[in-house]
Amino acid sequence: MPWESSDRRSRLPSDWARRRLRVLRRDQYRCQVRDAAGLKCLERSNEVDHIVNNDDHDYANLQTICRVHHAAKTQAEAKAGRRAKARTRPPSRHPGAL
Ligand SMILES: [Zn+2]
Repeated sequence: MPWESSDRRSRLPSDWARRRLRVLRRDQYRCQVRDAAGLKCLERSNEVDHIVNNDDHDYANLQTICRVHHAAKTQAEAKAGRRAKARTRPPSRHPGAL
């Protein structure tokens, strides 16, 4: 397996532990996910999430997230991934279309 496609844990920066702790302290160990009305969840947590799911470990792309929101986000991302894959299939043409 090429290095690039290995799981995220192995790609975390060497100072990840310190980074993670700084994010948790910044967010006061409370979930930063906002609902549709823009209100933060603020559930106590010690999990840190990448806001945009990529390898950007900048503090701006990291937030504290509760277990419920983390699970929901992971599921949504998996679903989005499946949809993206489905979109790359050639569109099925109507048998009568020219
Ligand atoms: Zn939450």
